[in-house]
Amino acid sequence: MQRLAELIDKARRDVSSASTVGNPEAEVARVMQICNACRYCEGYCAVFPAMTRRLDFGAADVHYLANLCHNCGACLHACQYAPPNAFNVNVPRAMAQVRVNTYSQYAFPAALGSLYQRAGLTVSLALAAALALFLVLAAASADAGKPLAGNFYAIFPHNLLVALFGSVFGWSMLALAVGVVKFWRETNPAPAALAGTATVQSSPPDALGEALAEAAGNALTLKYLDGGTGEGCNDEDDRPTLLRRKFHHFTFYGFLLCFASTSVATVYHYAFGWQAPYALTSLPVLLGTVGGIGLLIGPVGLAWLHLKRHPLHGDKAQSPMDLGFIALLFLVSATGLALLAWRDSAAMSTLLAVHLGTVMALFLTLPYGKFAHGVFRGAALLKWSIERRRPSNLRLGGD
Ligand code: SF4
Ligand code: SF4
Repeated sequence: MQRLAELIDKARRDVSSASTVGNPEAEVARVMQICNACRYCEGYCAVFPAMTRRLDFGAADVHYLANLCHNCGACLHACQYAPPNAFNVNVPRAMAQVRVNTYSQYAFPAALGSLYQRAGLTVSLALAAALALFLVLAAASADAGKPLAGNFYAIFPHNLLVALFGSVFGWSMLALAVGVVKFWRETNPAPAALAGTATVQSSPPDALGEALAEAAGNALTLKYLDGGTGEGCNDEDDRPTLLRRKFHHFTFYGFLLCFASTSVATVYHYAFGWQAPYALTSLPVLLGTVGGIGLLIGPVGLAWLHLKRHPLHGDKAQSPMDLGFIALLFLVSATGLALLAWRDSAAMSTLLAVHLGTVMALFLTLPYGKFAHGVFRGAALLKWSIERRRPSNLRLGGD
């Protein structure tokens, strides 16, 4: 009780947000101090029980909590201290502003971290450059403009595509992996660095397996987009809906099915010597078609929800990053389905060049745009699943 009284007292002293303007990490620490005294939102998501295990919020804690937040908006609409209250508590906005800073801070190479701040321009330039590259290459092909019965490799040789896309995709995965490892190291310091603190605990090996399974389940089901009650997120008002979760699922699983389509086609090519084009009833085409439809529905729905969201939600300055990524996913899918529909026509070479240009732009910007949120959130979910299996030394009622 004495600690709780100290927290409330500290929150009162820190009530003013004026001193944290322009310092997103300090703002998250400020609102977490207030929330830690209030705790009304404890059941909404993992952020609040994770918060109760802390008394102070240093940079590593703030980065972790910010990436644990799914920006569902539930705590803003429930909050008695939200604007225009003098406490000015807006957890989703504070978390969103820190999140984008963590992407920049952990970016690899570090010099490219600033691309997150100009993500809309980054996407536009990558798209323009990639489209120009493939349109020029297609125009140089002697077979351009001829009906080729869907034979893509008459325009772009298979080995050229493998070299181009394999190297760019490999680089993107490497950059994301290095970034998330840096994030993990900062938010999970070595036990020696924690000696004597409340957080030094170890998990038994079987608990780590359970934590991994739980975190994977939470990520795959987007558990924390259910608003804590199962009713969903807040969009434009106090009414919760499951639309954002559903459109996320269309997008996420559409993307995975398209990736599965490419993977199966790669196995066909190298393991069985079966070369594209594949029949409309073949597994790669069926996976790509179903995934592509999901990747049309999801991004359109997410863009619609984004545009009508309550003005206090999230961080409007990040709209170019959010909408740029959504638009790119939509373009990849729309051009892929158009290519499938007209692959036997004289327009195939142009459609192929446009589709490959959009896919290349997506691959190029994966580590420097909105895609990063999935990777960092996955790491934060895993940290939470590990952490909640350990006893807390604070004993303030959050366990
Ligand atoms: S967001 Fe508001 S209501 Fe929820 S815990 Fe924080 S201060 Fe309390
Ligand atoms: S916006 Fe949603 S996910 Fe983020 S802290 Fe609030 S309740 Fe949790």
